Amino acid sequence: MTGRYEHQGKGRDLQKQLLGDWYRRLETAPQEGRKVAYLFVPGNVAELLRAFDIEVCYPEINALQCGIKKTSSSFIMSAEDMGYSSDVCGYVKNDIGLWKQGNEGPLGRLPKPDLLLCTYCGCTTFIKWFEALAEYYDVPLVMLDVPYQRDGRMEPGDVRYLVGQLRELAATCAKITGRKLDEARLSEIVALSARAEDLWVDILQAARHRPSPFDAYFEAVFFMAPIYALRGTRECVEYYRAAKQEIDERLAHGLGPAGEERFRIVVEGPPPWPSFRAFWEMFKDWGAVAVASTYSKVGGFWDRGFRHDPARPLESIAEYCLGCYTNQSLPMRADLIRSYVKEYEADAVVIHSVKSCRSFSVGQADFREEFTRERGIPTLLVESDLVDPRYFQHAQLKNRIDAFFESLEHRRVTGAAGAAR
Ligand code: SF4
Repeated sequence: MTGRYEHQGKGRDLQKQLLGDWYRRLETAPQEGRKVAYLFVPGNVAELLRAFDIEVCYPEINALQCGIKKTSSSFIMSAEDMGYSSDVCGYVKNDIGLWKQGNEGPLGRLPKPDLLLCTYCGCTTFIKWFEALAEYYDVPLVMLDVPYQRDGRMEPGDVRYLVGQLRELAATCAKITGRKLDEARLSEIVALSARAEDLWVDILQAARHRPSPFDAYFEAVFFMAPIYALRGTRECVEYYRAAKQEIDERLAHGLGPAGEERFRIVVEGPPPWPSFRAFWEMFKDWGAVAVASTYSKVGGFWDRGFRHDPARPLESIAEYCLGCYTNQSLPMRADLIRSYVKEYEADAVVIHSVKSCRSFSVGQADFREEFTRERGIPTLLVESDLVDPRYFQHAQLKNRIDAFFESLEHRRVTGAAGAAR
């Protein structure tokens, strides 16, 4: 039996509630005397901050919320009025425009940070973004220097180097909060992270089934939010239990996101948030289901074996930072995408290239050439933006996507070899 599930289940309701509670905690943090750190999703060290009861706030998540709720245009224009060029990362301009307009986001008022924590994990924009925020907010900026992974080997010296920086960060957090690092508490938090990570991997790997019980790109972005926002809490573990139960039910009934799963795709690159639904529809129209994506791993490579480790809390936090997607070289990223095609028995790769995100988009045209010409993997590359609606050309994108799947269908019928792109 196969079919399409009709509504999002309990997992989605719980996700909305947890994220709403998180934003409310952020909103009330200054009045209630709780400290807030701004940090980035890739390589985030949320567990260490949580051990000091510091609330975590991610400007990228704020920006994507603005994109989804279609409020990003006004913030981007504010930043451009301040002199930020049209080429600057859309997330940065959204965040700076949000600050300029008084930090009223679609999910509530954002607090001023007490600490800016830049985990430099491969994207140079991170550094300039938080330098600007440090000036605007006039608050301390801590920069973690995370050695780049050129060849996939995580050297013990890299881990030691980062652990040393984490100890310095702990001293800064102690100064801000007036309390010492409780190592036992940190281990408990890290253990909770590992439990949520196990469940999240079970969900991701459920996409190996035919039909896949969920879309590992468009739907994964909802499923993955708590692993970044709430990792290290009991609520996060409870959420992934509920989400896994929902996936298990779909598997038991042969339900998936498309009525009939006609194409299995691997997707690379972040989604165009302001046109998220419209973009998804273009794939649903063809019964195309993402069975794996790189974007759902921007915060961590748990499906490749990494787990936070309560026996080595700081070391495993350091390894998590080192291993994140933006910190990996282009050959490593290409290997990952190819491995997903094989493991999830995908028919094609779709690359959504983001105009203002060089960290992701550099090398994507080379990926397409390599996959299509040398590996025989049909690969489509389309371009728009993360949060800037001006770059989403609906008709043009739809034409390219329709032509790609028509060509895939033709190949299937005729058994023809050759490139589809
Ligand atoms: S350039 Fe890309 S990776 Fe870097 S901050 Fe912007 S969206 Fe994130």
